[in-house]
Formats: sequence, structure tokens, C-alpha cells
Amino acid sequence: MLGTFGYLVSLALAAFVWVAPAGATPPDLDALKVEEIAPGNYVHFGRIEPLSHANLGDQANIGFIVGDRCVAVIDTGGSYAVGAALRKAIRQVTDKPVCYVIITHFHPDHFFGAAALVGPGVRIITHTDYRRWIAERGRFYLKALHRDLGDLAEGSEVVEPTEVVSDRKTIDIGGRTLTLQAWPAAHTTNDLTVLDERTGTLWLGDLLFVDHTPVIDGSVLGFLDVLGRLGEMRVAHYVPGHGRSELPWPKVLEPERDYLDVIVRETRAALKNRKTLEQAVDSVGLSQRANWVNFDEFHRRNVTEAYTELEWE
Ligand SMILES: [Zn+2]
Repeated sequence: MLGTFGYLVSLALAAFVWVAPAGATPPDLDALKVEEIAPGNYVHFGRIEPLSHANLGDQANIGFIVGDRCVAVIDTGGSYAVGAALRKAIRQVTDKPVCYVIITHFHPDHFFGAAALVGPGVRIITHTDYRRWIAERGRFYLKALHRDLGDLAEGSEVVEPTEVVSDRKTIDIGGRTLTLQAWPAAHTTNDLTVLDERTGTLWLGDLLFVDHTPVIDGSVLGFLDVLGRLGEMRVAHYVPGHGRSELPWPKVLEPERDYLDVIVRETRAALKNRKTLEQAVDSVGLSQRANWVNFDEFHRRNVTEAYTELEWE
């Protein structure tokens, strides 16, 4: 029994929920521009710049693969508005339903648009380790997004996977098999790649940065290992997590590998010479500055990560 007081309270709550605050509608963007880089593989190349009111988190490369039966989305952009604009782009290409949303890792510029693309029957796939990290950092990411975008962040949500990959998994979207590979700690602890077997197109998430300074949020040594393994794969087309390149596979991996190599080498030297973390951050890897965009935003943090990882060798 609810009782009169409970009834009034629930009415008040209902009224409170029902009245949406002003400005709470997500921005309605035009369809994202996508390019068909290989048959059935459509990529939107995000902007290489920090999050802003102008880009709404349209920073990562995201896109989709169209099968005979349905569509697999790979990453969803950094806000609900970007995800909704990706949904429009899909509708311009095909009327087949979205059946999978694959999230390559737990960084917010890759998943905050997911709420615009999921719904009944849509399976959300991530690396098995995504769950642990999104539980730890998800609410901070959401808070930061609202702090940075205000009402423009409306609709953005942390999504939970409906299934996870711990090693390798294949999915069929109708006449097209996608192989999902979960990697050991590298860019993050939960990097997942997607290979479209029909065209040999590899979607790398942030295991590959082009132009944008690589980010180490998993393991610098693991990152180098994974790059070595990726380089042995037969790949006809590739999609980096950020940036674009005309370099052939696997040559396109070299600038990133060089960057990580320099960090490992110079951080080890700094440790050997008993430099403090602050001294290492002020000296390691600075020769790489001219090669990368957003260097000052990310490089020092990378050195910090490398220092704490290599300190115990
Ligand atoms: Zn990332």
C-alpha cells in the first residue's frame, strides 16, 4: 500500500521527472561524413583536436561495416550527438538494422555516442577488461563530459557490454565474417580490433595513432609487443583510431613504434641515471615533438606512465 503521503510523493516525483530541464535536448547534427575505404567499410575520420563545444567529441575515427543481414558499428564518437549523426550516416547508406555496436576500448571519445545506436536486439561487444575499467572511470568521464560540454553532452551515457571478448571471437553480419581480437595491455588494458575478413580491413581503435600523439594508458612495453604482432598480420586496408595515412601496411605502424621506442630507451636511461620522475618528464622523448599533434597534452603523461612501469624492471 502506498498511503496518501506516499501517493503524493510519487506524484511529485513523477512531475519532477516529467518536466525536462531547459536545454536538455541533445544537439541535432547533420549526418557525419563517411568514406567507403573498402567495399562495405565506411569510416568517419574524426578531428585531431581537444574536446570542444565546436566538435562535441567528434575526435576519434568511427564507422560501420554493412553485411547482407545487418550493420556492425565500430566506435560511436564522444557524445550522444555524434552517435546520432553516425546513425544518420548509416541510414544514408543502408536501411539494414544495426545488430552490433563494437567498442574498441574504454576511452570516452570512442563510446559516449553509443546510446544513440543501441536498442532492442543490438548486441554491444567489448574486450572483457572493459567492464572493470568502465566501472572505475565511467562516472568520472561522464562528469568531465558534462563539465566540458554542458547541455551539449545530453543523452551521452556509459554503456555496458552485452557480451565480451577475452581472446578471439567471430561474428557474422550476413555474408561477411568479422574477427574480433582482444589484446593484452597496450594502448589500454582493453583494446579490441576488428578484421573484416572479406576485404582484409583492420579497424585498430587506438592501437594505431597517425599524427595524433600516441597515448599510453595500458603498458608501453605491451604496446610495442602488440605492434609487433599486428605488423605480422596480412592487412589490405586499415583504420587508425585517430588520423589517416597513405602509408602501406605495416609501414604505417613505424612512426608510432619509433615514438614508443624512444620513450622506453630514454626512460630506462633516466632511471639508470637516478633521475626523478619530474626530471624524466622534462627530458624524455622531446626530440619527437615535431612529429606529433597534441604533443603537449599527452606526452608528459606518457612519460609518467612509462616511468612507473619501467621503474620495477
Ligand atoms: Zn584511446
